[in-house]
Amino acid sequence: MRWTVLGSGAGKITAERSPASHLLETDNGKIYLFDAGDGTTKKLYSIGKNPSSLDALFISHLHPDHWGGFPLLIQTMHLEKRSSPLPVFIPEEGITTLRRMLEMGYLFKEILEFEIRFLPILKNPLLSDGGITISAYPTRHLKKYFPLGHLHPANLMESFCFRIEAGEKTIVYSADLAAVDDITEAADTGGELLVMEGMHTKREELEPFLKFHPFSHIVITHIPPNNKSWKDEDNIIISYDGFYIEI
Ligand SMILES: [Zn+2]
Repeated sequence: MRWTVLGSGAGKITAERSPASHLLETDNGKIYLFDAGDGTTKKLYSIGKNPSSLDALFISHLHPDHWGGFPLLIQTMHLEKRSSPLPVFIPEEGITTLRRMLEMGYLFKEILEFEIRFLPILKNPLLSDGGITISAYPTRHLKKYFPLGHLHPANLMESFCFRIEAGEKTIVYSADLAAVDDITEAADTGGELLVMEGMHTKREELEPFLKFHPFSHIVITHIPPNNKSWKDEDNIIISYDGFYIEI
């Protein structure tokens, strides 16, 4: 399997880093995208992948740095004449608005040659296909907005991390967290690859966590411009746009 960090940055775009976007290519030829921040479509082309070839998209939460590239991804699939349905796993709170946004952009379902299947992240596994199982676990990333919830009842403050199991191998993609222990359930007894966000977490938090949830490789992503928390170590890699790892 190959995990490619298409966008290694956080919410603030910089010249060096695009927002969150990650590609998983499985040994049996499936291609899954995790988050679709601004620039995702261009990044896919830049590594030789046709955006139209995605088998499914998983959106962790609705901060724009995780879905801002979605409308152009869909428009590009349309222009590439995609015909197969596209499953989009997404927090339930976003489905109606995202559908409306595509309509606003004249990407009417009557025009698209493929069906966009918006699937709310509600129960596990989200997807089980050819030996690959993908599950989502809630995180507390958006809990800081709870005091404003009564003013914005459409916002349910949903955010998720993902666990991918392929045979003996396990990958955890943290997406955005409140703290490292948000991924306790997803990480279970550890695995091959932990793709960990580096903005709301600290290096010191990770050490005790790894004792009980060891991972062979740790890739830090979602890196803010003023990163001081993380640096390359033996089994910890600071990712960059276009970085990939084979496991
Ligand atoms: Zn983010």
